[in-house]
Amino acid sequence: MGDTSLDTMLATTRRFLAAEVDARAHDRAGCMPERVLEGARALGLFGLSIPERWGGLGLSLREVAAIVAEVARADRSLATTVGLHAGLGTRALIDLAPEPLQARWLPMLARGTRLASFAATEPGAGSDLASVRTTVRRTRSGLCVDGEKAYVTNAGLAGVLTVLVRDADATGRPSALVLVPRDTHGVEIGREERKMGLRASSTCTVRFDGAIVPADHRLSARGLEDAHRTLAWGRVLLSAGCLGTVRIALERTLAHASERRQFGRALIELGSVRHHVASIATAEATISALLDRACAHDADLPMHAGALKVLASELACEACDRAVQVHGALGFLEDPGVALLSRDCRVTRIFEGANDVLLVRHGTAVLAGHRLPRAHHDGALGGQLDALASRLDDAVFAARRLHGVVAIRHQTMLQALARADLWLHAASATLDAASSGDATRASVLALGARRALDRAGRALDRAEQSELYEGYEDDIVEALSREPTRVGACA
Ligand SMILES: Cc1cc2nc3c(=O)[nH]c(=O)nc-3n(C[C@H](O)[C@H](O)[C@H](O)COP(=O)(O)OP(=O)(O)OC[C@H]3O[C@@H](n4cnc5c(N)ncnc54)[C@H](O)[C@@H]3O)c2cc1C
Repeated sequence: MGDTSLDTMLATTRRFLAAEVDARAHDRAGCMPERVLEGARALGLFGLSIPERWGGLGLSLREVAAIVAEVARADRSLATTVGLHAGLGTRALIDLAPEPLQARWLPMLARGTRLASFAATEPGAGSDLASVRTTVRRTRSGLCVDGEKAYVTNAGLAGVLTVLVRDADATGRPSALVLVPRDTHGVEIGREERKMGLRASSTCTVRFDGAIVPADHRLSARGLEDAHRTLAWGRVLLSAGCLGTVRIALERTLAHASERRQFGRALIELGSVRHHVASIATAEATISALLDRACAHDADLPMHAGALKVLASELACEACDRAVQVHGALGFLEDPGVALLSRDCRVTRIFEGANDVLLVRHGTAVLAGHRLPRAHHDGALGGQLDALASRLDDAVFAARRLHGVVAIRHQTMLQALARADLWLHAASATLDAASSGDATRASVLALGARRALDRAGRALDRAEQSELYEGYEDDIVEALSREPTRVGACA
């Protein structure tokens, strides 16, 4: 799709969202009205990523992300429904399925008459997906799936689920992704979960009790090993949702701070409020620069998508919190809708890989010598970036010397090293983007780069003192675990 067609699609989507979508009403109702889903179908929102030959729009990841961000500005629950379908829900089918299976499912999924889900998590297997217990075994009639999946997005609307399973007679990591149509005998969808946010997005448990599907429904024989692009699409589209949330948070905060008067002047005239507004603006610019960078690196997409997911979710949650603060009491009430932005955003630091876990993994890679790519940048900020990058190298060297092979057990240090690398990457992405925008955008991006460098510096402080922190934290947790009744005893 060319830029003009994307602009047309964005404009049509905006008109639909303005006319039909009321996030607060959907949140109160706890579900997405059929009228809205019907409108989304008519617009083609469920066919965004599906190739044209199967009836979809065949958009690139960058284009799908632009539309998901626009939907999230209006309603994060609807953006989750659409984004999950385009990313985790259908990607494995598009990338890995044999043609007859694609021909059977993708046209329906493109029309949105059926939606797609991705079921990996189980009650006993969340961050540790290697312990998945749902099994698949060959029978004379096909593949038989047994087990239970938890927190499955879109499950209440799903026509088809991509399910992470292990071979019934094998040990080790889950070994396959299997496509299971929802109407297969033995598939049971549980009740809708009641959630803190994203209340109009469907989340259910799914039970598989001897559910038999044809043998060609095995999408991958290596579990998640083949599904890196699927996970990466999911994380990029989740981050696009964060971008949309930050954009609406910025618009509302700016409007409120300009209208509301205290002490004889508008809030926006106060330095502290300006700091909040500028911080939300830099969050928007930073996520946008990182998103562009991820979409431009197709070959390294999984690595970029993981970094983007952690930073976008953290920046977006922080931006929502600032929006609540500037709105004062109104920020704490449900009707103005700023509280909803915060509630909807919180889960992005947990799902599609809890940030804590992604940071530990990334820290382990940093310790082994891997770094996110950084271009060379001239000027004072470029010099600061280089200095912090060599400080990161020193911190890695010191950690290896101090801890040797057991360094990977020191999670506080690993997370601090990871944060330093991620923020240096963010500084580089914002500096790159600043060289090609208008003057206002360039100064927001430059401030984004400064903030990213500050954060990288703080992460390095923490990495350098991690032994001290870990010592205190271990002492406290061990004391509390020995004597839980002492919690609150100092009051
Ligand atoms: C609204 C919603 C929608 C979801 N949609 C889907 C979906 O469509 N498909 C799907 O498969 N799943 C889905 N999930 C599940 C989600 O991906 C998991 O909740 C997530 O992966 C974390 O697993 P867990 O909740 O079991 O947390 P746990 O694994 O129990 O972890 C809890 C916390 O412990 C800490 N922790 C755990 N392990 C480590 C570690 N190794 N290092 C450091 N810290 C650690 C982290 O702080 C973590 O947040 C959804 C969840 C929600 C809430």
